[in-house]
Amino acid sequence: MSISINPDKCTGCETCVTACPFAAIEMRDGKAYITEACTVCGACVDACEFQAIDRTEEAAKPAVDLSAYQGVWVFAEQHKGDIASVSLELLGEGRKLADKRKAKLSAVFIGSGIRDKAAELIAHGADIVYVADDPALKDFNDDSYAAVLTTLAKQHKPEIILAGATAIGRSFFPKVASTLYTGLTADCTMLDIDAATGHLHQTRPAFGGNIMATIVTPNHRPQMATVRHKVMKPAARNGSRTGDIIDVTFKQAGTVRTRVVKTVEELTETVNICEADIIVAGGRGLGSAKNFAMLEELAKVLGGAVAATRGAVDEGWIAYSHQVGQTGKTVCPKLYIAAGISGAIQHVAGMSSADVIVAINKDPDAPIFNVATYGIVGDVNEVIPAMIKKFREIRG
Ligand SMILES: Cc1cc2nc3c(=O)[nH]c(=O)nc-3n(C[C@H](O)[C@H](O)[C@H](O)COP(=O)(O)OP(=O)(O)OC[C@H]3O[C@@H](n4cnc5c(N)ncnc54)[C@H](O)[C@@H]3O)c2cc1C
Ligand code: SF4
Ligand code: SF4
Repeated sequence: MSISINPDKCTGCETCVTACPFAAIEMRDGKAYITEACTVCGACVDACEFQAIDRTEEAAKPAVDLSAYQGVWVFAEQHKGDIASVSLELLGEGRKLADKRKAKLSAVFIGSGIRDKAAELIAHGADIVYVADDPALKDFNDDSYAAVLTTLAKQHKPEIILAGATAIGRSFFPKVASTLYTGLTADCTMLDIDAATGHLHQTRPAFGGNIMATIVTPNHRPQMATVRHKVMKPAARNGSRTGDIIDVTFKQAGTVRTRVVKTVEELTETVNICEADIIVAGGRGLGSAKNFAMLEELAKVLGGAVAATRGAVDEGWIAYSHQVGQTGKTVCPKLYIAAGISGAIQHVAGMSSADVIVAINKDPDAPIFNVATYGIVGDVNEVIPAMIKKFREIRG
């Protein structure tokens, strides 16, 4: 896009000079003049009542031959050989995208001693699995993992590459995207594809979660995105599916700048909220840290995990690792009990995919009731103990 002044129309009124937030317009010989400070923001165009400022949209040309790129790829993350559940979710979603494009779905599987698990990726939807199995790839390392993926991507030219928005995906995917000179949309919650052009519609929360932005990468390939855990459903396992497992010889391109000195397992006594089928979540309406003990008791009776809003975390009632929402974790349990939670959009963004949501709030107009399957208007101090008592009776 470019901005220019039409001197024949410019009356020299100077309105645009004050309208420009970047002080990029000067008056020269009674006419407005755009200087090099212009950021092409466009604010001056509407400010000029004489239509003396033109904005020209230049159609961007594809940077590469888009038709040379085909197929959907998923980076299949693994931990000690166990395939991460987010990767199975991505295979489910990748399968749908590939089918719409009548293309193949491939998985890239990197690690050491993992080859015998590759068939599992085919059972979950992949047509091809590229396996880089090498002792040098035992521990995750940005440089090594990026080297494997960029080498393969340059060789096979996939149209789309997806990874989970996990610590690993978030760490090495930007390096891959910048090496391949393409765009990357982080933390997507929804994907779709234009079947004709192959443009991937990558949707993610923006502006503090107040809007959902759909981003496309129209002129570069591959199109790369990281996707949040638990926002997509994994495809059902089908052990009779067949596909190709292709062994890839690992050759480090460039230097490896980091070395894993020691790995320490995280110790936790509670169920991980990302994996829990039942979650009992509390908000500021609980009133105190002490009252979270009630939720823990209910979670224990139900065999579930305890989660919280940012409100409760900010109060210091529970650790951040339990926070659900836009700046916390995304969960998708079978049952989500929301106690004393108002239902702010940033919280709902992390839990609205739960199968059943039960909301307890003393305010009948609380927004949480808009997403709840069942609503209980009442005081948590009465409702939660009653639930504990009843479930104890039912469960013996
Ligand atoms: C950029 C950004 C990111 C954010 N990220 C997150 C995020 O990841 N997760 C998140 O949760 N929030 C997030 N927030 C904050 C979010 O906007 C809300 O402020 C927060 O979710 C509110 O928490 P709450 O529902 O516990 O508290 P409140 O909004 O204070 O609601 C408390 C509710 O409890 C009810 N209540 C009070 N007493 C009782 C009682 N005795 N019995 C029953 N009900 C009662 C009240 O009616 C009220 O509805 C974010 C905000 C921003 C700006
Ligand atoms: S607002 Fe329009 S007419 Fe006025 S000085 Fe700027 S370009 Fe010229
Ligand atoms: S486009 Fe923006 S930066 Fe450029 S002159 Fe107009 S207002 Fe100033």
